[in-house]
Amino acid sequence: MSESVAPSEAHAYDFFEVVSAYLRKATDIVGLPAHIQAMLAQPKNELIVHFPVRMDNGKFRMFKGYRIQHNNLLGPYKGGLRFHQDVSLDDVKALASMMTWKCALMGIPYGGAKGGVKFNPRELSQDELMRVTRRFTHALGNNIGPHLDIPAPDVGTNSQIMVWLMDTFMNSVGTSAKNAQRAVVTGKTIECGGSAGRNKATSQGLVHCVTEWAKANRFDLEGKTAIIQGFGNVGSFAALLLAKLGVSTIATGDHSGYMSSTEGFNAHKLREYVSKNGSIDGYAGGTPISRDEFFGTKADIFIPAALENQIGAHEAQLLDVKLIAEGANGPTNLDGERILDERGIPIIPDILCNSGGVTVSYYEWVQNLNSEAWDLEKVDAKLEKAMKDAYGRVMQVSRDRNITPRIAAYVVALERLNVAFSQRGIFP
Ligand code: GLU
Repeated sequence: MSESVAPSEAHAYDFFEVVSAYLRKATDIVGLPAHIQAMLAQPKNELIVHFPVRMDNGKFRMFKGYRIQHNNLLGPYKGGLRFHQDVSLDDVKALASMMTWKCALMGIPYGGAKGGVKFNPRELSQDELMRVTRRFTHALGNNIGPHLDIPAPDVGTNSQIMVWLMDTFMNSVGTSAKNAQRAVVTGKTIECGGSAGRNKATSQGLVHCVTEWAKANRFDLEGKTAIIQGFGNVGSFAALLLAKLGVSTIATGDHSGYMSSTEGFNAHKLREYVSKNGSIDGYAGGTPISRDEFFGTKADIFIPAALENQIGAHEAQLLDVKLIAEGANGPTNLDGERILDERGIPIIPDILCNSGGVTVSYYEWVQNLNSEAWDLEKVDAKLEKAMKDAYGRVMQVSRDRNITPRIAAYVVALERLNVAFSQRGIFP
């Protein structure tokens, strides 16, 4: 499949600087005191580990892993773990700070963190993946814990990896303390303490945002179309959930290339295909298209659900959609955002739009700590209310202060952090 160069490959991209620029803008609007801004401008802790893993061929390979703990004012550090060949310190710092804003925005009692290991998980066997996960967990040691720092899935990781992490961590404490450690990680399989609804949570939250937008704009979703970049957990569940609302996915793509389907993809079949084959490559139900053709596909909704820095100036010009709902973290860069703004294409920003994932992670953690198991109905109802409340709050601030929904989301988050900081003061 032909692919043109993504902005991230075209030049070095300073993701942390982009997120810092949003922070500065929101800081001015909130009137955040300088010392609090300075505290939030950098993470509290940056942990970098190197660890060896025995590969299937008997040789040893060194891996580099990160855990960045950005802030824990509102609760334990919280955020995903990414397995990807491009993981870098600055990117993980950006993603960790976004978790602080996301959790504050959603009003859940967590701070922000992110972690990652720099390698391509597609090149490893299941056994090798397990050993990488266990050695990384061991290397993190007491820097994570149910009341300290709680990882979760992100790009390149899944519920199986979370279960290996949990098992390793549980086995590092004495027998009597073992079961109290289950909440060290979220996004686990249901059988091992995960929550109903966690696997679709990010997409479900995103779809609630889309529905709220449609309601506010008197836009009937039935019979409409979407294009989705990325067909992993977030992209594929978004396609499934949108299909239930009558929205068909007419183009999609992943690391292997892009495809279109004029009548709309069967989201169930494509999901099954991807879980068997690792990508959409070779799927018979679609026609291969170029990256530019993908971005230029006329549709109603665009859901970026892959990596950061995918919508630059070029892509923003190509896009022919009425709404962008950010499933990924940081998919739009500053140039892309400026052009989309000029073109009047609204963006539901990442820290709001994809916050369903960490919100249901919080529900999972609460269930674990209380030895409870909620049914899907309860999780769905709580998530729906949380998303609608947050969406309403962000859009109200956006209107009241005449700022973009993205900056409004940062403003809501920062205002909550500001109040907590000023009430607590700085120790000693
Ligand atoms: N990795 C997801 C995110 O970026 C989920 C984090 C979590 O559940 O802690 O929001």
